Amino acid sequence: MFDVRGKKVLVVGLGVSGYAAAELLGRRGAAVKITESSDTIEIRERLEELCQYSVEFELGGHTEGFCGDAALVVTSPGIDNGSLPLAVAGNRGIPVIGELELGFLFCRAPIIAITGTNGKSTTTELIGRILSLSGRHTALCGNIGNPLSGEVDFLTGESVAVVEVSSFQLETIKDFRPHIAALLNISEDHYERHANYDNYRAEKFKIFRNQSGDDWAVLHSDLAGAAFSGSGDSGRALIERIKSRLLFFGAETAEAAAGRDGVSVDLFGKKDIIVRSGEIPLKGAHNLDNIACAALVSRIMGVNNRLIREGIRNFRGLDHRFERIGDFDGVEFIDDSKATNIDATRRALESINKRVVLIAGGRDKGGDYLSVLPLVKEKVKILVLIGESREGIKGVFSHAVPVLAAESMAEAVNMASASAEEGEAVMLSPMCSSFDMFSGYKERGEVFQSEVRKLKG
Ligand code: ADP
Repeated sequence: MFDVRGKKVLVVGLGVSGYAAAELLGRRGAAVKITESSDTIEIRERLEELCQYSVEFELGGHTEGFCGDAALVVTSPGIDNGSLPLAVAGNRGIPVIGELELGFLFCRAPIIAITGTNGKSTTTELIGRILSLSGRHTALCGNIGNPLSGEVDFLTGESVAVVEVSSFQLETIKDFRPHIAALLNISEDHYERHANYDNYRAEKFKIFRNQSGDDWAVLHSDLAGAAFSGSGDSGRALIERIKSRLLFFGAETAEAAAGRDGVSVDLFGKKDIIVRSGEIPLKGAHNLDNIACAALVSRIMGVNNRLIREGIRNFRGLDHRFERIGDFDGVEFIDDSKATNIDATRRALESINKRVVLIAGGRDKGGDYLSVLPLVKEKVKILVLIGESREGIKGVFSHAVPVLAAESMAEAVNMASASAEEGEAVMLSPMCSSFDMFSGYKERGEVFQSEVRKLKG
């Protein structure tokens, strides 16, 4: 196994991932160095937790002197590629790996890795629940807020790690090799980080790169279609490079079909209906895809249909993802705050069969709002915009639907509820990130929900 005993390892950033990496390295006997650009109480508290290990640190900025003598650098998903410690490592030829890679190098359990633009947390959670039902010791980790590095010491060869993987994490993998890798979908997102769609797509496909014929690749059937082509390699070419056993979910002809009637799996020469539509508490066609993926992965892991069905029937979804808050005066309120890109909002609108007053806006991520214009015309009664992207988004939609601008979430909720009539819905599904007004999608969703409850008195 990977050995860091006595080696100087520099951890860049002491966020949740950096902390987990530093602690794992400390436990494994490395001489840990931590460089962190901020200096807050929270950071100092984290440092204190690490005092039992051999740890040196610099806070409030990075210096070349401190960063230049490491044998290995471990970075976190939030760290910019151009930051000083990574530049120094680049110049001096010091190897750089991400926290996910570090966790992988110490992980004895097989890994199921889930990536895609949208649906990662939902699918990761569902797979984790089904595997736990089957009695297998299961760790839910990764981008879901629980780094793999923090879990590996609790895992054995009999356990399984279900890991949500973001494209940022895939940027810094080298040998990361999941036994099952699932790619849910790819749509425009994170243009602030990836130069263009081809780069973003190539990052996502890195999840399959180190797999061999003993492993499994699980992809949405749309990713094999003609529509899935960028200016570089065609989608087909990327798929042809995959060396593991390839299975698809989504279309009726795929190994796991997500149809109107429900989800069925056709695997190992046996085709079964896993769950019928009426039994599924999760709403939305996009969630049928997530469920089909989870069912397929669970079947590969040897879980029987009964337990897969039970897991699906008991899973009501995660907070702030197309979450139904309730009906007030005949108007349904939906919190889809986690819709931080255009495709997530598109899928939410597709899943609603009533007129919607849509609250959207926030920090723009550079996607193409026009792609959702036909759906907005069809389903949206009034668009209420918040945040710094208000004017830009208004320019796209104002000729198609009435647009209002609000200064705060409270004002947006009041405007939206005043405009919605019985039988209609008010939905927060912003298409943008939240960081202009909130600490994250969670706070945005919580503020939305508390304003909605105030309406009810
Ligand atoms: P992620 O972890 O990839 O951000 P989540 O499960 O947290 O995914 O969901 C994020 C947003 O995407 C929510 O608005 C949710 O309703 C929507 N969503 C979930 N699954 C899908 C999917 N398969 N395709 C498109 N949007 C989805």
